Amino acid sequence: MARAPITTGLLLLVLGCAPAVAPGTSVSVGKSNDGWLLRGVPMPDRGIGYVRARPGEETRYGIPRLVQVIERAAASVDAAFPGTPPLRVGDLSYPRGGRHPRHGSHRSGRDVDLIYYATTPTGRPVQGRGWVAYDRFGMGREPDEHGGAHMALDVARNWHLVRTLLADEDAQVQWIFCSAGVKARLLEHAIANEPSRAIVFRAAWVLHQPRRAHPHDDHFHIRIGCGAEQRALGCQDRGPIWPWWTDEAIKNETNEALDDAALVHALLDPVDPAVASAPAGGS
Ligand SMILES: [Zn+2]
Repeated sequence: MARAPITTGLLLLVLGCAPAVAPGTSVSVGKSNDGWLLRGVPMPDRGIGYVRARPGEETRYGIPRLVQVIERAAASVDAAFPGTPPLRVGDLSYPRGGRHPRHGSHRSGRDVDLIYYATTPTGRPVQGRGWVAYDRFGMGREPDEHGGAHMALDVARNWHLVRTLLADEDAQVQWIFCSAGVKARLLEHAIANEPSRAIVFRAAWVLHQPRRAHPHDDHFHIRIGCGAEQRALGCQDRGPIWPWWTDEAIKNETNEALDDAALVHALLDPVDPAVASAPAGGS
Protein backbone atom coordinates (compact mmCIF):
# COMPACT_ATOMS: atom_id res chain seq x y z
CA MET A 1 0.00 0.00 0.00
CA ALA A 2 2.83 2.35 0.88
CA ARG A 3 4.15 2.07 -2.69
CA ALA A 4 0.93 3.19 -4.35
CA PRO A 5 1.63 6.94 -4.28
CA ILE A 6 5.08 6.38 -5.81
CA THR A 7 3.64 4.20 -8.58
CA THR A 8 0.92 6.74 -9.27
CA GLY A 9 3.49 9.51 -9.32
CA LEU A 10 5.65 7.62 -11.81
CA LEU A 11 2.66 6.95 -14.02
CA LEU A 12 1.70 10.62 -14.00
CA LEU A 13 5.30 11.54 -14.77
CA VAL A 14 5.45 9.15 -17.74
CA LEU A 15 2.01 10.17 -19.05
CA GLY A 16 2.85 13.80 -18.50
CA CYS A 17 6.08 13.48 -20.51
CA ALA A 18 4.68 11.34 -23.31
CA PRO A 19 3.14 14.06 -25.51
CA ALA A 20 6.48 15.90 -25.70
CA VAL A 21 8.22 12.91 -27.34
CA ALA A 22 8.04 12.89 -31.12
CA PRO A 23 7.02 9.55 -32.65
CA GLY A 24 10.01 7.28 -33.09
CA THR A 25 12.35 9.28 -30.87
CA SER A 26 14.73 7.24 -28.75
CA VAL A 27 14.89 8.41 -25.16
CA SER A 28 17.51 7.68 -22.53
CA VAL A 29 15.41 8.04 -19.40
CA GLY A 30 17.04 8.79 -16.05
CA LYS A 31 20.60 7.93 -15.09
CA SER A 32 23.03 5.42 -16.54
CA ASN A 33 22.82 3.39 -13.32
CA ASP A 34 19.13 3.96 -12.59
CA GLY A 35 17.18 4.47 -15.78
CA TRP A 36 15.73 2.83 -18.82
CA LEU A 37 15.54 3.14 -22.58
CA LEU A 38 12.60 4.05 -24.77
CA ARG A 39 12.73 2.99 -28.43
CA GLY A 40 16.45 2.23 -28.45
CA VAL A 41 18.12 1.25 -31.72
CA PRO A 42 20.11 -2.00 -32.10
CA MET A 43 23.83 -2.18 -32.79
CA PRO A 44 24.26 -4.46 -35.83
CA ASP A 45 26.31 -7.62 -35.31
CA ARG A 46 28.96 -6.28 -37.66
CA GLY A 47 29.84 -3.20 -39.66
CA ILE A 48 32.90 -1.43 -41.07
CA GLY A 49 35.73 -2.14 -38.67
CA TYR A 50 33.73 -3.82 -35.91
CA VAL A 51 32.00 -7.03 -34.83
CA ARG A 52 29.89 -7.62 -31.76
CA ALA A 53 31.59 -9.77 -29.13
CA ARG A 54 28.28 -11.51 -28.40
CA PRO A 55 26.57 -11.64 -31.81
CA GLY A 56 22.85 -12.26 -31.71
CA GLU A 57 22.59 -11.46 -28.01
CA GLU A 58 20.12 -8.72 -27.11
CA THR A 59 22.27 -6.41 -24.97
CA ARG A 60 22.88 -4.22 -27.97
CA TYR A 61 20.51 -1.26 -27.77
CA GLY A 62 21.26 2.41 -27.31
CA ILE A 63 20.16 5.84 -28.37
CA PRO A 64 21.10 6.42 -32.04
CA ARG A 65 23.95 8.80 -31.16
CA LEU A 66 25.73 6.03 -29.22
CA VAL A 67 25.47 3.49 -32.04
CA GLN A 68 26.63 6.11 -34.56
CA VAL A 69 29.58 7.14 -32.38
CA ILE A 70 30.84 3.55 -32.24
CA GLU A 71 30.36 3.05 -35.96
CA ARG A 72 32.23 6.25 -36.87
CA ALA A 73 35.13 5.48 -34.52
CA ALA A 74 35.49 1.84 -35.67
CA ALA A 75 35.42 2.91 -39.32
CA SER A 76 38.08 5.54 -38.64
CA VAL A 77 40.43 2.98 -37.10
CA ASP A 78 39.73 0.61 -39.99
CA ALA A 79 40.66 3.35 -42.48
CA ALA A 80 43.80 4.33 -40.58
CA PHE A 81 44.97 0.73 -40.07
CA PRO A 82 43.64 -1.17 -43.11
CA GLY A 83 43.60 -4.93 -42.96
CA THR A 84 43.73 -5.15 -39.16
CA PRO A 85 41.17 -7.16 -37.18
CA PRO A 86 37.91 -5.41 -36.27
CA LEU A 87 36.98 -3.77 -32.98
CA ARG A 88 35.03 -6.12 -30.73
CA VAL A 89 31.96 -4.35 -29.37
CA GLY A 90 30.66 -5.64 -26.04
CA ASP A 91 27.39 -4.84 -24.29
CA LEU A 92 25.22 -1.79 -24.76
CA SER A 93 21.81 -1.96 -23.03
CA TYR A 94 18.80 -4.27 -23.11
CA PRO A 95 16.12 -3.28 -25.67
CA ARG A 96 14.31 -1.35 -22.94
CA GLY A 97 17.35 -0.73 -20.78
CA GLY A 98 17.01 -1.23 -17.04
CA ARG A 99 18.89 -3.48 -14.67
CA HIS A 100 21.37 -5.93 -16.22
CA PRO A 101 23.05 -8.88 -14.47
CA ARG A 102 26.48 -8.10 -15.97
CA HIS A 103 26.52 -4.38 -15.19
CA GLY A 104 25.86 -1.71 -12.60
CA SER A 105 25.18 0.84 -15.33
CA HIS A 106 24.34 0.23 -19.03
CA ARG A 107 20.71 0.94 -18.10
CA SER A 108 19.74 3.86 -20.27
CA GLY A 109 21.32 3.31 -23.70
CA ARG A 110 24.34 5.56 -23.23
CA ASP A 111 26.99 2.96 -22.25
CA VAL A 112 29.02 0.54 -24.32
CA ASP A 113 31.97 -1.76 -23.67
CA LEU A 114 34.70 -1.96 -26.31
CA ILE A 115 37.35 -4.66 -26.05
CA TYR A 116 40.88 -3.34 -26.45
CA TYR A 117 42.64 -3.79 -29.75
CA ALA A 118 45.44 -6.31 -29.32
CA THR A 119 48.63 -7.51 -30.94
CA THR A 120 50.88 -10.48 -30.47
CA PRO A 121 53.88 -9.80 -28.20
CA THR A 122 55.85 -9.10 -31.41
CA GLY A 123 53.38 -6.44 -32.57
CA ARG A 124 51.19 -8.21 -35.14
CA PRO A 125 47.54 -7.11 -34.80
CA VAL A 126 45.31 -10.00 -33.71
CA GLN A 127 41.61 -10.49 -33.11
CA GLY A 128 41.64 -12.06 -29.68
CA ARG A 129 38.72 -14.16 -28.49
CA GLY A 130 38.45 -13.78 -24.73
CA TRP A 131 38.70 -10.83 -22.41
CA VAL A 132 42.37 -10.12 -21.75
CA ALA A 133 43.42 -8.09 -18.71
CA TYR A 134 46.49 -5.95 -19.42
CA ASP A 135 49.03 -4.97 -16.80
CA ARG A 136 50.72 -1.58 -16.61
CA PHE A 137 53.26 -2.75 -19.18
CA GLY A 138 50.43 -3.46 -21.61
CA MET A 139 50.89 -7.22 -21.48
CA GLY A 140 48.17 -9.83 -20.95
CA ARG A 141 47.17 -13.38 -21.68
CA GLU A 142 44.10 -14.94 -23.27
CA PRO A 143 42.04 -17.08 -20.88
CA ASP A 144 43.00 -20.77 -20.99
CA GLU A 145 39.73 -21.75 -22.69
CA HIS A 146 40.79 -19.52 -25.60
CA GLY A 147 44.31 -20.94 -25.85
CA GLY A 148 46.16 -18.89 -23.24
CA ALA A 149 48.21 -16.92 -25.81
CA HIS A 150 50.20 -13.92 -24.62
CA MET A 151 48.88 -10.62 -25.95
CA ALA A 152 49.96 -7.00 -25.98
CA LEU A 153 47.83 -3.89 -25.87
CA ASP A 154 47.77 -2.32 -29.34
CA VAL A 155 48.50 1.19 -28.16
CA ALA A 156 48.45 2.84 -31.59
CA ARG A 157 45.04 1.51 -32.59
CA ASN A 158 43.53 2.05 -29.15
CA TRP A 159 44.79 5.64 -29.16
CA HIS A 160 43.32 6.22 -32.62
CA LEU A 161 39.96 5.00 -31.29
CA VAL A 162 40.18 7.29 -28.26
CA ARG A 163 41.28 10.34 -30.22
CA THR A 164 38.47 9.79 -32.75
CA LEU A 165 35.91 9.62 -29.96
CA LEU A 166 37.28 12.78 -28.35
CA ALA A 167 37.56 14.73 -31.60
CA ASP A 168 33.90 13.91 -32.36
CA GLU A 169 32.37 16.90 -30.59
CA ASP A 170 28.80 15.98 -31.48
CA ALA A 171 29.24 12.60 -29.82
CA GLN A 172 29.52 14.12 -26.32
CA VAL A 173 31.69 11.34 -24.92
CA GLN A 174 31.57 11.86 -21.18
CA TRP A 175 33.82 9.09 -19.87
CA ILE A 176 36.17 6.52 -21.37
CA PHE A 177 36.73 4.23 -18.43
CA CYS A 178 39.97 2.23 -18.54
CA SER A 179 42.60 1.15 -16.05
CA ALA A 180 45.21 3.63 -14.88
CA GLY A 181 47.88 1.44 -16.52
CA VAL A 182 46.14 1.54 -19.90
CA LYS A 183 45.60 5.29 -19.57
CA ALA A 184 49.30 5.84 -18.85
CA ARG A 185 50.34 3.88 -21.94
CA LEU A 186 47.87 5.72 -24.15
CA LEU A 187 48.94 9.15 -22.92
CA GLU A 188 52.60 8.25 -23.30
CA HIS A 189 51.90 7.34 -26.92
CA ALA A 190 49.78 10.44 -27.47
CA ILE A 191 52.36 12.87 -26.12
CA ALA A 192 54.89 11.47 -28.59
CA ASN A 193 52.60 11.08 -31.60
CA GLU A 194 49.38 13.10 -31.36
CA PRO A 195 49.49 16.36 -33.35
CA SER A 196 46.54 17.91 -31.48
CA ARG A 197 47.34 19.08 -27.97
CA ALA A 198 43.65 19.72 -27.39
CA ILE A 199 42.92 16.02 -27.89
CA VAL A 200 45.67 15.01 -25.46
CA PHE A 201 44.22 17.43 -22.95
CA ARG A 202 40.74 15.97 -23.36
CA ALA A 203 42.11 12.44 -22.99
CA ALA A 204 43.83 13.34 -19.73
CA TRP A 205 40.40 14.14 -18.29
CA VAL A 206 38.09 11.66 -20.00
CA LEU A 207 40.20 8.49 -19.71
CA HIS A 208 39.51 7.42 -16.16
CA GLN A 209 39.74 4.37 -13.90
CA PRO A 210 36.49 4.36 -11.95
CA ARG A 211 36.54 4.02 -8.20
CA ARG A 212 34.66 1.19 -6.50
CA ALA A 213 34.20 -0.65 -9.79
CA HIS A 214 35.86 -3.08 -12.16
CA PRO A 215 39.33 -1.66 -12.97
CA HIS A 216 38.61 -1.85 -16.71
CA ASP A 217 41.96 -3.44 -17.52
CA ASP A 218 40.32 -5.60 -20.22
CA HIS A 219 38.02 -3.15 -22.01
CA PHE A 220 37.04 0.48 -22.51
CA HIS A 221 33.68 1.50 -21.15
CA ILE A 222 32.35 4.49 -23.07
CA ARG A 223 29.58 6.67 -21.70
CA ILE A 224 28.03 9.52 -23.65
CA GLY A 225 26.29 12.49 -22.08
CA CYS A 226 22.59 13.21 -22.36
CA GLY A 227 22.76 16.23 -24.65
CA ALA A 228 20.17 18.98 -24.55
CA GLU A 229 17.51 17.07 -26.50
CA GLN A 230 17.68 13.93 -24.32
CA ARG A 231 17.91 16.00 -21.19
CA ALA A 232 14.64 17.73 -22.00
CA LEU A 233 13.04 14.28 -22.27
CA GLY A 234 14.17 13.06 -18.85
CA CYS A 235 17.79 12.02 -19.33
CA GLN A 236 20.00 12.76 -16.32
CA ASP A 237 23.77 13.29 -16.49
CA ARG A 238 25.84 12.09 -13.54
CA GLY A 239 29.18 13.22 -14.92
CA PRO A 240 30.84 16.39 -16.12
CA ILE A 241 29.67 18.61 -18.95
CA TRP A 242 32.88 19.04 -20.91
CA PRO A 243 33.58 22.46 -22.38
CA TRP A 244 34.30 21.12 -25.89
CA TRP A 245 30.83 19.61 -26.35
CA THR A 246 28.75 21.22 -29.06
CA ASP A 247 25.80 21.65 -26.77
CA GLU A 248 25.23 25.33 -26.19
CA ALA A 249 22.04 24.77 -24.23
CA ILE A 250 23.84 22.76 -21.57
CA LYS A 251 26.80 25.10 -21.47
CA ASN A 252 24.51 28.05 -20.86
CA GLU A 253 22.55 26.16 -18.27
CA THR A 254 25.65 25.17 -16.35
CA ASN A 255 27.34 28.50 -16.89
CA GLU A 256 30.23 26.61 -18.45
CA ALA A 257 32.26 28.86 -20.70
CA LEU A 258 35.68 27.23 -20.74
CA ASP A 259 37.47 26.88 -24.04
CA ASP A 260 39.73 23.84 -24.02
CA ALA A 261 42.03 25.21 -26.72
CA ALA A 262 42.66 28.25 -24.52
CA LEU A 263 43.23 26.01 -21.51
CA VAL A 264 45.71 23.87 -23.39
CA HIS A 265 47.50 26.96 -24.58
CA ALA A 266 47.72 28.31 -21.06
CA LEU A 267 48.83 25.02 -19.50
CA LEU A 268 51.17 23.54 -22.06
CA ASP A 269 52.61 26.17 -24.34
CA PRO A 270 55.95 27.49 -23.17
CA VAL A 271 55.96 31.21 -22.60
CA ASP A 272 57.59 32.99 -25.49
CA PRO A 273 60.24 35.27 -23.90
CA ALA A 274 59.65 37.91 -26.58
CA VAL A 275 55.99 38.03 -25.67
CA ALA A 276 56.62 37.84 -21.92
CA SER A 277 59.00 40.80 -21.99
CA ALA A 278 56.88 42.94 -24.32
CA PRO A 279 55.41 46.03 -22.69
CA ALA A 280 51.86 45.63 -21.49
CA GLY A 281 49.10 47.41 -23.30
CA GLY A 282 49.88 47.97 -26.98
CA SER A 283 47.40 48.40 -29.74
ZN1 LIG B 1 30.67 -1.41 -19.14
